[in-house]
Amino acid sequence: MPRTTNLPDHVRKLVDEIETEIGEDGAALSIQGTPAEDDAANGRVEAAVRQILVEIGEDPDRQGLLGTPERVHRMYTELTAGYHVDPDRLINGAIFDVDYSEMVVVKDIPFYSLCEHHLLPFFGSAAVAYIPRGKVIGLSKIPRIVETYARRLQVQERLTQQIADFLMNKLAPQGVGVVLEATHLCAVMRGVRKPGTIMTTSSVLGLFRSRDRTRAEFFAHLERAAPRA
Ligand SMILES: [Zn+2]
Repeated sequence: MPRTTNLPDHVRKLVDEIETEIGEDGAALSIQGTPAEDDAANGRVEAAVRQILVEIGEDPDRQGLLGTPERVHRMYTELTAGYHVDPDRLINGAIFDVDYSEMVVVKDIPFYSLCEHHLLPFFGSAAVAYIPRGKVIGLSKIPRIVETYARRLQVQERLTQQIADFLMNKLAPQGVGVVLEATHLCAVMRGVRKPGTIMTTSSVLGLFRSRDRTRAEFFAHLERAAPRA
């Protein structure tokens, strides 16, 4: 995806925070992009949100709703900022040659995403593991990879797969395992499932798929993480 330069300032700031860490080269530089005046400020989203308010029987001109269309517009651009993150820039300089071939596990990574069917949040925690093949990635990058794909319209299955595929492609490890557990407000609020129902998805690649022992080790790590027993 080509780098978007005309993002609104608040979205550009978010994208920069995901792509770079404080103190990294380029963090300050990239904030200098020209603020978007065209896409962001054409008023189309505001008009659409206002129309929704009218259609559900509300009065968009009452005090509490006056600023709502603008706030909703701003919110959606923030919640979908992941579309603008450049994954290569995110991992830039954070892949290291290391002679280590044991499982690396990062768990309890909180994430927030939007269900593409209802535009309602689903949120929970992610666990990401891989077995290096000569290359490791800086630990702080993994939650950023999760966030990059979470800040989009998603289904949980695809989000899980995209995180796994990204690591597989960039690190060429011996294997990758990703497990996501999430609550979907579209299910909970609408009463389709019992409140509190958690959906679990997993993606296992390489050794995590082909070797029972590896998969068992990964899931054993996750068991220990869960304080519910
Ligand atoms: Zn939904």
